Amino acid sequence: MLLIKLGGSVITDKKIYKRFREDVVKKIAKSLPKNDILIVHGGGSFGHIIAHEYRITEGFEEEKRIGFARIGADMMELNLKILNILIDNSIPAVSLAPHSFHIMGEEVDLSLFEKYLSMGMVPVTYGDVILDKNQGINICSGDYLMLHLAKKFRPEKTIFLTDVDGIYDRDPKKEVARLIPFLPREHDVETSIRVKDVTGGMEYKIRIMREIAEHGRVYVLNGFHPERIRKVLNDEDFIGTVVE
Ligand code: ADP
Repeated sequence: MLLIKLGGSVITDKKIYKRFREDVVKKIAKSLPKNDILIVHGGGSFGHIIAHEYRITEGFEEEKRIGFARIGADMMELNLKILNILIDNSIPAVSLAPHSFHIMGEEVDLSLFEKYLSMGMVPVTYGDVILDKNQGINICSGDYLMLHLAKKFRPEKTIFLTDVDGIYDRDPKKEVARLIPFLPREHDVETSIRVKDVTGGMEYKIRIMREIAEHGRVYVLNGFHPERIRKVLNDEDFIGTVVE
C-alpha cells in the first residue's frame, strides 16, 4: 500500500487565501496508483490563514465559532476540488472528513478507512478543524493523520509531497541549504525551528516521518515534479529524501 500526503504548500499557494493549484494537482493525480492507496492532503491557504487569525489551536472561545465554521467549509471546498480531479483520473476517491470521525484527545477510529480500502476504494482525508476533548476545538493536521494511518495500515511506502526537493539541512527558502538524500531515523539533524505554521512546522513533520519510518520507507519529494512519485514507486533513482 502507498500512503501519500499532498502538502498544502504544493496544492495551494500558501500566501494567497484559497489559491488552488489545479494544474499541479492534475499532474500529481496522473502519477498515482488507482488503488491500494491512502491519500491525505494539507490545508495550505484554505486552512492556515484563517486558523491563525482565529487562533484555533489555542482552544474554544465564543467568537471563534464562525472562524471554525468557515475553515470547515473552506476545507471541504478544497477537498472537493481534489476529489473531482482524482475521480476524473479513475481513482475511486471517497472523502472522510476528520471533523466527522475524530475528536482530538480520543482514540482515532479508522474503521471506515479499513472498510473502504477492503472494497478497493481510495479514502481521502485532510487537515481539518476538529473538536478537542480538553480545549473544545483544535486543528487536526494532515501530518498527524499520516502518523495514525501509517501506524494502522503499515504502508510499504509513505510519501510526503512539499514544494521543495526534500529535507534540507536548513530552510531552503531562507538560506543556502543542502538537500539531505538519506535521513537515518536516529540522526539528530539540525533543522530550522524558525519555520512555524499552525501545525508545528518542519520539526514536527520530521518527528512524524521518523516515527512512520520505524515500519516502512518514508520519502519526501517535490510535488511540482510528480514524475518522481513514479520513480519511487518503481524503485528507480530519484531526487528527494528517504527517511529510513
Ligand atoms: P506542507 O504544508 O506542504 O505539508 P510546509 O509548508 O508545512 O509543508 O513545509 C514545507 C516547507 O518547509 C517548505 O516550503 C520549506 O520552505 C520549509 N522548510 C523549513 N525547513 C526545512 C528543511 N530543513 N527542509 C525542507 N523544508 C524546510
